[in-house]
Amino acid sequence: MILVLDNQATNDEIKNLQQRLKFMGFEAIISNENAQKTISLVKGVDKNTDIKGFINLPLVKEILPLKTKFGLANKDAKAQQTVIRIKDKKIGGGHFTVMAGPCAIESRQQILAIAKAVSSNGASILRGGAFKPRTSPYDFQGLGEVGLHYMREAADRYNLLCISEVMNAKDIDLLEKYVDILQIGARNMQNYNLLKAAGQAKKPVFLKRGLSATYNEFLLAAEYILSCGNPNVILCERGIRTFETHSRNTLDIAAVPILRELTHLPIIVDPSHGTGIRNAVAPMANAAMAVCADGIMVEVHTDPDKSVSDAQQAISPTMFADMMRSLRGIAKAVDMTID
Ligand code: PEP
Ligand code: MN
Repeated sequence: MILVLDNQATNDEIKNLQQRLKFMGFEAIISNENAQKTISLVKGVDKNTDIKGFINLPLVKEILPLKTKFGLANKDAKAQQTVIRIKDKKIGGGHFTVMAGPCAIESRQQILAIAKAVSSNGASILRGGAFKPRTSPYDFQGLGEVGLHYMREAADRYNLLCISEVMNAKDIDLLEKYVDILQIGARNMQNYNLLKAAGQAKKPVFLKRGLSATYNEFLLAAEYILSCGNPNVILCERGIRTFETHSRNTLDIAAVPILRELTHLPIIVDPSHGTGIRNAVAPMANAAMAVCADGIMVEVHTDPDKSVSDAQQAISPTMFADMMRSLRGIAKAVDMTID
């Protein structure tokens, strides 16, 4: 259930209401402190609850039943789309964010070279895995903490933010020391303990859609993070598994406009894992911009064929520069800024 509160309510008044609801046995979550309407969702409501009684509480102007189970991720929970601010950068709300970098951090020299190449062509966030979820246990599993250290150095040198995957709740503190955004990978989208722990993290969370997750399951995974107190969740469409075997995954580009109708959270497209095919990355990045996604995440390597992981989908700095040129053209048509 959502309680729509008086727009003029002060933070103290809202805190008092939250306390009062707590005494009554409910949990109230403030879902949009900065938007026009301040709305709180109450957990603990069941069929025996006298919903009408809530209208007599101070500040409550309206009571909305939950149309979906993802009450906090739901578009109705906020008056505006979520814009996530990290240092001087914004994700969401008309800003097209380009996240680029290698699949895996391989060495200090590799991440420095790639950071230089992508930053000089307009990327604002450096990606790279230090803890890699590999299908085979015999494949390279990532450099771990030392990799994160190299990535932070590269990001700082080229004025980039950085993002890396966390596979385990106990590693969140470690990741937060180095990165600006925590990535939760497709394979862990339904790792509920990890989602709950990410909900208590201080840094924004980039949540990738599971390999066979429906939109409902995807948004409920985001809801786990939001309901544990972290309002900064970014969704990533990264392709799903279908009957097609030629490409690695089928990039569900329609997820962007469809999720847009359902949620206020920013939506990023990953055309690299979404296709697994180098020459398909730029066209699908263009498609992401054309459907007004909030950005892309792409895998770039200075020597793509020698990438330790995901070599077939890695693009070179030259291909990245060409892709950015065409994105700038489309940005004018859809009235977005790349930053
Ligand atoms: C990645 O981005 O490095 C990755 C492993 O992606 P996904 O979880 O989408 O497979
Ligand atoms: Mn990869």
